[in-house]
Amino acid sequence: MVRIRPFNADHIAPPPSRSLALRLRGPGERAVRDGHPWVFEGSVRSVDGSGPTPTAGDVGVVFDRKGRFLAAGLYDPDDVVRLRILAMGTPTRVGRALFVQRLQEALQRRAPLMSPDGGASGRMVTDGFRVVNGEGDGLPGVIVDRYGDTVVLKLYSAAWLPRLRDLIPAMVEALAPASLVGLVSRRVGAHPLCPDELRMGALLHGADPGSAVPFRENGFTLEAHPLEGHKTGFYLDQRENRQRVEDEARRLAGERGSLRALNVFSYSGGFSLYAARGGLAGVDGVSGGGPTPGGAVEVVSVDTAGPALRQARRHFALNQAELGQALHRTVEGDAFQILDGMTGEEGAFHLIILDPPSFATRKEQRDGALAAYGRLTRAALPLLAPGGTLVQASCSSRVEPEAFYRVIRRSVLESGRRLEGEARWGHALDHPIGLPEGEYLKCLFGTVS
Ligand code: SAH
Repeated sequence: MVRIRPFNADHIAPPPSRSLALRLRGPGERAVRDGHPWVFEGSVRSVDGSGPTPTAGDVGVVFDRKGRFLAAGLYDPDDVVRLRILAMGTPTRVGRALFVQRLQEALQRRAPLMSPDGGASGRMVTDGFRVVNGEGDGLPGVIVDRYGDTVVLKLYSAAWLPRLRDLIPAMVEALAPASLVGLVSRRVGAHPLCPDELRMGALLHGADPGSAVPFRENGFTLEAHPLEGHKTGFYLDQRENRQRVEDEARRLAGERGSLRALNVFSYSGGFSLYAARGGLAGVDGVSGGGPTPGGAVEVVSVDTAGPALRQARRHFALNQAELGQALHRTVEGDAFQILDGMTGEEGAFHLIILDPPSFATRKEQRDGALAAYGRLTRAALPLLAPGGTLVQASCSSRVEPEAFYRVIRRSVLESGRRLEGEARWGHALDHPIGLPEGEYLKCLFGTVS
C-alpha cells in the first residue's frame, strides 16, 4: 500500500508578480483569436524581457499588433507550448478568483450529470466524474476528477506548480472535497520546480483518503487508485460506453438466454461489471425473472497487470448483491498471446470488448498503431459468435477516427466476416474538448455476422 504524503504549496517559490508581454507571429495570433488555447514556441515573436528571466508559472499577456490585450495565460519557457491561455478578450487577473470561476463554470457544465432525472447517471447514482477537462474547461493543463468525497488534481504543465498556492484554495472553495489529492504527469514530475512528494502523489488538503478511493458509478460500488493506478485511478472517460455495453449485453442475453463476454485490456474490470449486469438482466427477461440458471452469464477479464485484475475481482465482490449470479474469470497475460491461445473457444463469446492502451503517443507510431488495431481485431474475431457484438476502442489521439474505423472494417472483412449496424462513440459528457488533439477516444460497436 502506498502512503500519501502531505504537501505544502508554500514550499514552491511564487513567480515574480509581474507579467510578461508577448507578441506573436501572424498564424499564432490568428490561432489565439480562433480560440486555440495554446501558443507554441515558434509562434512567439517577442517576450518583453524586462526584469528577471521568465520562469514557469509567469503570467503571459498576449498583445496584438496595435498593443491591445488579446489573451492572458500561464507561461513556461521550457515547454514547446509556451503559453496556456486562461482568459481571452478582456483583461483578467490570473489568480484564485479566476480559478474559482472556471471551476464553478465546469460544475455547471456537468449539471445534467448530477441532476437525478437527466444525463448518464439519471438512472442510478454516480458520484465519480471528471470535474475539469483541461483546455475544454478553460483550465489548460489541469485535470480534476471527483471520486465520491475525494477530488484528484493532475497537472500536465509545470506552469501550474507555482500557482498551486492559488489553485488549491480555489478548489477547496469551489469543490469542498473531504480529501484533495495532487498528482503530476511524468514530464511535470521531472521539472526542477516539482517537489518530491508531489511526484509520488500528495495530500493537498483534508484527510488521507486511503489507497482505494470508493465511489459510485451507475449504481455500482467502485474503487479508484489515484496513487498507483492509471490516469487519476480509473477510466472515467469510458463511463457512457460502459453503459452501452450493459445495454448491448442485455439485448444479446435476452435473445439467447445466456451471455459470454470477453473483456480484453480490462484494467479494473469496468466493462466486465456492466456486461455482467446487462447479461443477468437479459437472462432474467427470458426466464421471467426467475433464478438465473448457473453459468448463464460469464465474463472473462484479460489484462497483463495482476493488480488491475485483483481490483477487477474485488469490484465483482463489492457488487456481489447484484452480480452474484454471474461467473467472472480473470486471465493474466499478454492480450495477443492469450487471444491466439484460446483455441477450442471459437465462436464462444457473444460480446468482445477490446480497449487497449494507447498504441501511439508519437506521430511516427501512428501507422504501427493502426496495424496493431487490425491485428487485435483479427485475433479476437474467431472467438466471437456469429451475430455477436464487437466493441473496440482507441485512446490514441495520433490515430484519426476515420483511419481507425477503416482498419477495423477491413480486418473484419479479411476474417471472412461482415460488420453491421456500426455505431461510433467518443468520451463521456464530462470530457469536453478544448483543442483538436483533445478528441482522442474512439469506440466502435458493431454486430459481426
Ligand atoms: N478498459 C479499461 C481501461 C483499459 S487501459 C477500463 O475501461 O477501465 C489499458 C489496460 O491494458 C491496462 O490495464 C494495461 O494493464 C493493459 N495492458 C497493456 N498492455 C497489455 C497487453 N499487451 N496485454 C494485456 N493487457 C495489457
